[in-house]
Order: sequence, then structure tokens, then C-alpha cells
Amino acid sequence: MLPAFVLAFQALPAQVLPAAQPILLNVDATAIDRNVVRVSETFPTASGKRAFYFPKFIPGEHRASGPINGLVSLHFFAGGKEIDWDRDPVELFRFVVDVPKGASSVEARFTVVSEPSDNATPNLARIKWNRVLLYPDAGTTDRILVLPKITPPAGWRVASALTTLTDGKPVSVTELIDSPVIVGHYAQSYELGSIDGASVGMDVMAEQDGYQIVPDAALAKARELVRQEGAAYRGRHFRRYRFLVTLSGAGAGAGLEHHESSEDGSGLAAAQNDAAGWGELLAHEFNHSWNGKFRRPAGLATPDFHKPMDGSGLWVYEGLTQYMGYVFAARSGFSSPEVWQGTWANLARGFEAQPGRAWRPVVDTARSVGLVRGLRSAWSGEVRGTDYYTEGALVWLEADCIIREGTKGAKSLDDFLRRFFGGTTDAPVVKPYTTEEVVRELNTVYPYDWAGFLHERIDRVHLSTPSEALEKAGFRLVPGAAPVGRNPRAGTLPMLGLIVGRDGTVSSVWVEGPAFRAGLGTGMTITKLDGKEFSYDELLTKVTTPNPGTLQLTVTGGRSFSVPYVGAPIGARLEAIPGKTDWLNAIAKPLP
Ligand SMILES: [Zn+2]
Repeated sequence: MLPAFVLAFQALPAQVLPAAQPILLNVDATAIDRNVVRVSETFPTASGKRAFYFPKFIPGEHRASGPINGLVSLHFFAGGKEIDWDRDPVELFRFVVDVPKGASSVEARFTVVSEPSDNATPNLARIKWNRVLLYPDAGTTDRILVLPKITPPAGWRVASALTTLTDGKPVSVTELIDSPVIVGHYAQSYELGSIDGASVGMDVMAEQDGYQIVPDAALAKARELVRQEGAAYRGRHFRRYRFLVTLSGAGAGAGLEHHESSEDGSGLAAAQNDAAGWGELLAHEFNHSWNGKFRRPAGLATPDFHKPMDGSGLWVYEGLTQYMGYVFAARSGFSSPEVWQGTWANLARGFEAQPGRAWRPVVDTARSVGLVRGLRSAWSGEVRGTDYYTEGALVWLEADCIIREGTKGAKSLDDFLRRFFGGTTDAPVVKPYTTEEVVRELNTVYPYDWAGFLHERIDRVHLSTPSEALEKAGFRLVPGAAPVGRNPRAGTLPMLGLIVGRDGTVSSVWVEGPAFRAGLGTGMTITKLDGKEFSYDELLTKVTTPNPGTLQLTVTGGRSFSVPYVGAPIGARLEAIPGKTDWLNAIAKPLP
């Protein structure tokens, strides 16, 4: 038996809208400061049954994350009257209406509500077009034209890479959704340079007055970042590029890539501190214009926003971008040499203590993006999260070192970047690829068993990746105090196999780890350590002293458990291997 949605899809042929008649999309964002947007949308259409979709699979989120519960008060009108709508019983993002004879258009009116502090605050907001529009089924959203209009709260500025807001020329639904808007009360814009004649700039909206002013030192690094990415890729695939920066506790650390812009959600003082984390975010999202938006794994290059995505290629899309985010942040001066090295030490050390690596290969974390992205689980160590980012980064570090070592420094991963993602200059276009193409291009740069290497690292369970990547870079991991740098894992005690808060709450235990075997479980709260009131610092001192021992841990309710352990530092630092070339610091060197 065919599922109902197949029948429904068959019943309605794709609509083709005449190019001369765009959808008119009117977004009233005057109440966005209270998380409310009112929309009216007019579709030119003939009479009969018509289907409209709310975007479901969101690019950059790589999964069915369109926030459809925020679509409320939906009404359709045609021929001067309200008409009924039906939701598809299986494809819940699809609405069907029957347009009466004689009507040449249908209007949808709806309200979009979002959770407080999700994307909007009393002072600024991100407006993602995929949350404020419906689109007809026309085969591909590249062919559906739309003329958007947006009204922000009085006195708020609007920033976007979208030129239609000023020149009034229709754009495709694909381009619109790829070009979000930020609005805000405290706003400032900066120019950061250009790549092949296309300007790159930054629009900053801040939660508090004053923070939108980016200090000169941070601006200089941002300009160098643009120069470094331009020098690495030698070509670009945007007509202009805007970093859309929101500085606020809401959405801090949340970036989303687009062809000609990026949403760079950062903490209120991120620009003031010009910290490595801010630089990495900017570097990462800008890198996606080449890797992710222009070149995209075939499974993620879908024709509209309701066809399912296949995330298997995210170890390139996100893994290589994670790597280049670290690299460009270092090359542009956002990350000091200490932070650059410490980041790799923390990352590798973290993976040494990750039980999920024993069963789930990197490719499976990518393929399962719809399951693991945003997952909050007490069993995150066993489940594994979105490790295609950071373990992917380690694999690309290793690949970079293989090329440098093999060519005695004459070539590097930069040559691959240029061949695969850069080298040409054009307007936004998507060029899908397969893993075979990645292997072929790597072989063109430096002949090697890339297929075997990537199969081993990405497709198979591979416990020793971190140390191998670092050793090829010229360093070994030496247990010790955690260095400065990104990716520290606070509260993780691998020698006990648990994550514990300062208040004694056990947020995670590793199945078959020492704590679990002794009887401890997730959700328990440790109240006593060796018969005395629990102190996290005391626990840390005991388990990081390099001796074996046994802890007596008492939990709420009085049960007590004896946990044997072997003490070891929880951090690690990098130590140069004598006689080996230091590729790690060569990689961080700015390009001329
Ligand atoms: Zn990314």
C-alpha cells in the first residue's frame, strides 16, 4: 500500500508560477521585540487544489528543524473570501487549499511566534525567512520568485546581504531563505575589504548601547581574516558578503552560514574582547561560503525545503570548515600560538576520553545529524554528538600534514582548497560533489592512498585518531594541566568515567566505567566524599594525583559506593617530538 503522502503528492502536479508574477511577501516585524511577526503572502495561482509548504529541512541545520509550531493564526483568502485549509495528514509541513474558480491569486495570512531569547530580544533580532513564509510546490524553489518587504520596529536598523530590500527586484525563494536579515536598535556597520572586487562587510547589532562599536584591534583582525581566506581560496562565489553579527546573551555562539552572509551570534562583549572564539566563529562561517554553500555534498544539495537531506558528507562540509576555522583564526591573529596549540591538545584529550568512539564511526555521526544535533542527553558520551565537526577537524589536520610531509612542504591542504572550492569567481551557485571527487582532487594535489585513509578515519571506528594526527604534526600529547585554548571539557573525570558538577550532581556516567561499575548512576548527587561533605576541588585533587586509590562516594539518600581509580591529570599539553618537523605551527603561519 502506498503511504497517504505519496497519494497526496501525486494528486497535485507541481505548480509553475509565471516569472513575471512574484509572490508578494509582507513581513510586519514591528513586534519582533516581543517575538511576534505578522505575515501576509499573496501567491499568483490558478483555481483548483493548491499546496503550500512551510520550510522543513533547513540548510545549515541539515535536518527537519523548521519551527512549524511557531506558525499560528493561519488563514487563506481567495476571490475576496476566506477559504478552508487542510494539513497533509502525513507531511505535516504541507497545507492544501481549494482555490475557487475565477480567482487568480490566493493570500495567506499568519502569525509567527518564537520562543523568548531564541532569535529576538527587546533590542535586536534575527529574521530567518524560512520561518516567515510558505511556498508552493514548483519542483525547485530556485524557480519561485518572491518580492519581500519587511517592516522593523520604529527606529531599528535592517541589515542583510539581500539587495531586493532596496532595489525592489524579485529573488528566488532559495536566495531569499539563504539571505537572512538582522534588525536592531544599537547598530553599526564596517567595511572589511574585498575579494576579487566583491566587498566584504560586517553589520553589528548589540543588546546594549556601546557594544556595537568594534574596537580597532578586533577590526584589524577581522580585515586580516578576510584577506587570509581570499588568499587561500583565490576566488569567491558571492557578489557581496556581510557578517551579520548579533551581540547578546541570546543566540550567543550560534552561527549559521549562507552564500553571501552569515549569522554570527556572539556574546555581548565578544567584539570588545576580540577573543579567539569570536574569530573562530567568523572564520568558520565565512569559510562556508566556499565549503558548504558553493561546493556541497550531493546529499545536502536538495532542490527545495521539503525533500529529506542526507548528511553523510558533513565530515567535509563541517569537519573541514571546523579545521579551517581554527586555521584562519590563527592566521589572522584572533588565536595566539598558545591558544592554537592548546585547542588541539584539548580536542585530542577530549576524544581520548569519549566512550562513544568505540562503537560509532565519524560518518555515522554525520549521517545521524537529524538525531544528534542539539541532543541533550545524560548519555552523550556513549551516544556521541556532532563529532563530524571536531573529529573531522583532526582528520583534516592529519591530511594537511600528510601532504606537507609528502611534498617536503611544497604543497599543503591550501592547494586542495583552491582546486576544490576556490580558483574561480562567480555569483552564488551550488556545485554538488561526492566523496570520490574529494579523493580524486586530493590525489591530484598529492598522490596517496586517500580512499584508504578516509575510509579508515571516517567510515570505521578508529580509536587512535587524535594521537596520530598530532604526531604527524610533530607533537605528542603529554598529560598535564589543561592548557589555554578551545574545547576544554569542564567536570569530565575520565579516570572515574563520569561528569560531575561542583554541587556533586552526576550529569553523566560512562557505562562500564569505574563509577558505573561501583554503582553510581546518572542523576545521582554526591553528598559525601570519603565520609566528609562533598567538595569538587578535593575530588579533583585526589583523582589527578598519579596514584591508584579508592574513593568512598555517598549519594543523596545515604547509599555509598567504593570507586577504585588510577589517578591521572585531566588535561594534556603538546610536546614537540625531537627530530620531527613542526607542521602544526607552519599551518598557522599567515599567507602572504
Ligand atoms: Zn559550520
